[in-house]
Amino acid sequence: MLYLDNASTTRVNPEVLTTYQSLLAKYFANADSIYDLGVEVHNLQEKSRNMLAKLLKVNSSELTFCSCASEANNLAIKGYAFANQHHGKHLICSAIEHSSVIEVFKQLEAHFGFSLTILPVNHQGVVEVETLRKAMRKDTILVAIMYVNNEVGSIQPINELAKVVHQEHYCAFLVDCVQALGKIDLDLTNVDLASFSAHKVNGLKGSGLLYHRLNKRLMPLVIGGQQESGLRAGTSNYVLNIVLAKTFRLALEKQQANQSRIHELKTYLYNELSSMPEISLNSDLNGSDYICSFSVLTSGSEIMMNALSKRGVYVSAKSTCSTSKKSYSPVLEAMGKDSKSLNGVLRVSFTYDTTLLEVQEFIKTLKEIIYAYSTN
Ligand code: PLP
Repeated sequence: MLYLDNASTTRVNPEVLTTYQSLLAKYFANADSIYDLGVEVHNLQEKSRNMLAKLLKVNSSELTFCSCASEANNLAIKGYAFANQHHGKHLICSAIEHSSVIEVFKQLEAHFGFSLTILPVNHQGVVEVETLRKAMRKDTILVAIMYVNNEVGSIQPINELAKVVHQEHYCAFLVDCVQALGKIDLDLTNVDLASFSAHKVNGLKGSGLLYHRLNKRLMPLVIGGQQESGLRAGTSNYVLNIVLAKTFRLALEKQQANQSRIHELKTYLYNELSSMPEISLNSDLNGSDYICSFSVLTSGSEIMMNALSKRGVYVSAKSTCSTSKKSYSPVLEAMGKDSKSLNGVLRVSFTYDTTLLEVQEFIKTLKEIIYAYSTN
């Protein structure tokens, strides 16, 4: 089996799994219970929060454990919009945001009286700073632009964009960091809200994190108990939260250790694909080293994915969260791709332990399939 769909999800790191299993057996008590068993769990969860804060260079009180990045994005967007609508009702997001961001903005526009500007991107899938500057208004309260795009890997100029956002006093900046953590060096200095997911970095599914600057007030979406400082009611999944610190620590360590090796893999893949006349590249070498999108001009995505899958090779086309929709990728459409490119898109994505041999095997299989279809 050749699994090259790591932007969709990753295998669990064996170290994370072992820790999870041993903690799960031992720590079953409710962390809100005041007896020793509960206090012990509570303390471990707070230790994890402190460690995550250190890794992300933020304060621990600014971190909220969530069930996934989709939840973190929903809480950030609706929570901020509802709590700050008296300052204005204009929202901005880029055209290439993950569905857990852009669909939330669209819902706020359709049902809650907000107005929305969706920013175009250039041919490389990057939001230009001038484009954002022109879209900003006196009543803009929230801007969302992701760090690294999940379909093509384009990296956004977060610090330059943040300067424009913060020219409006009440405007907050949400950055979806799901495909950035453990892949590029993160800088949250100028970010107000940020979302993370464990399963994209060899952690467990059902585990995510929201960073929110304390001076940016959020309205909780799930209310009841006082868990997570009142921002997210409900008995927490402590063991997942405890193991998240280890997941992020390992992801950051693996990023450092494999940086140049993964860059060589992407360069190799990119050069091989560039030399094939049937292929048009959608990603460029300035983007994330972990994601490479390209289009097979002679075939459709589904046909190619099925043919690859029959040979035990797993890649995807557009974002896995929107594969059920029979439509072209909005990300590639926003980048101005023609219908041939939109039709035949494939995405290969690496994780820290992807090898050159695997990439060579992928290229060999891809060439065989393209050749077989062209001679049939
Ligand atoms: N944001 C981006 C950029 C993603 O790629 C994904 C997952 O595909 C998400 C958010 C949602 O993550 P989760 O599966 O943790 O909800």
